[in-house]
Amino acid sequence: MSKPILLLNCGSSSVKYQVIDAESEAVTATGLIQRIGEDLGTIDHTHDGNKHSDQRVYPDHKVALAHMVAMFEQYGPSLNEVVAVGHRCVHGGERFRETTVIDDAVIAALRELIPLAPLHNPPGIAGIDAARAELPDVPHVAVFDTAFFSTLPAQAYSYAIDTDLAKRYGIRKYGFHGTSHSYVSRKAAEFLGKDMASFNQIVAHLGNGASISAIQAGAAVDTSMGLTPLAGLVMGTRSGDVDPGLTPFLANQAGMSIAEIDDFLNKKSGLIGLSGVNDFRDLEPMMDAGDERALLAMDVYVHRLISYIGSYLALLGHVEALTFTAGVGENQVMVRERTIRALEPFGFVLDPEANNARSKQARRISTPDSPVAVLVIPTNEELAMARETVAAIN
Ligand code: ADP
Repeated sequence: MSKPILLLNCGSSSVKYQVIDAESEAVTATGLIQRIGEDLGTIDHTHDGNKHSDQRVYPDHKVALAHMVAMFEQYGPSLNEVVAVGHRCVHGGERFRETTVIDDAVIAALRELIPLAPLHNPPGIAGIDAARAELPDVPHVAVFDTAFFSTLPAQAYSYAIDTDLAKRYGIRKYGFHGTSHSYVSRKAAEFLGKDMASFNQIVAHLGNGASISAIQAGAAVDTSMGLTPLAGLVMGTRSGDVDPGLTPFLANQAGMSIAEIDDFLNKKSGLIGLSGVNDFRDLEPMMDAGDERALLAMDVYVHRLISYIGSYLALLGHVEALTFTAGVGENQVMVRERTIRALEPFGFVLDPEANNARSKQARRISTPDSPVAVLVIPTNEELAMARETVAAIN
């Protein structure tokens, strides 16, 4: 029997959607709505390998999702059989520690969390409201990017600032990409035939956004992103860790406003700040041509990654596996090679041939006798969300 789940990921101007059958785990439809709130929006809807595109003005998420439903009606598959809708929610704050079935009280609590994620949570809520209006007879479920990190111990999630102030505003490390870290860490245990209960591992989710986590017995004990997704590793356009003193410095010396600094650190830093490009596929030819900015960008990226892995080795004491995932982690050979080579004294032994091989499969890129197993495992956040959604409604 099929059990289709509709998954929605609503950004400020876009909606990504998928229908996944929870029984067979097959994807039966995918779609992307773009330019919500702009002059003219687009929708690309794919079912049975056929892509159907259309254009329309989408003043808001409500109109966009109504058009999505119309595309389903016109081109299939039917949404009548959908048993639940899973919504990606970026920030669950301290309130939401797990995937949660949505009711009016949950919506109210999500609204209270807007100050923690002013860019991400409002479109998420708008999407939930619109989807509940379109599909009122099925359960809607919120899947939080932060939930997997609700197990962080206080010494990992607390910033060394005044505790009263931190409590009042909910200032702490939350961590993001949790759905991916959770999915990939389970896959790694499965791949190696390990029992989660006694398995220490590190997962590096290296996409356009990037984060790394230390996981003990299936529970995250530390992660690189913080109060916001700006902290930690070097990313496509985000700086990752900088001295917090940089913000007042830029305000005082460069005359930048808080909004300008926020934009600078989130959108004009990281790889693009260092080299002018945010995508490794553009960085690679620049490095080949000896471009000094590109070479430095790679050096900084790898240096930061090695530093985090080293600190998680120390925190965990003993690590059995390191897994790379997401666009960069799954495809960028040199980042993996340079990182693993540097970690050789700690028991990470690279198999260069396996590392160079192109594959979409979960695979090992360390030698068979490497004390630490190094893996590449493709992430699948939609499938992870579908599974979470089913578990929540059951
Ligand atoms: P997002 O965070 O947007 O989901 P992805 O996980 O899709 O990002 O990662 C996108 C990034 O992955 C790109 O910006 C690029 O740096 C890198 N990437 C994707 N494909 C390749 C490839 N074939 N070779 C090298 N890098 C790649």
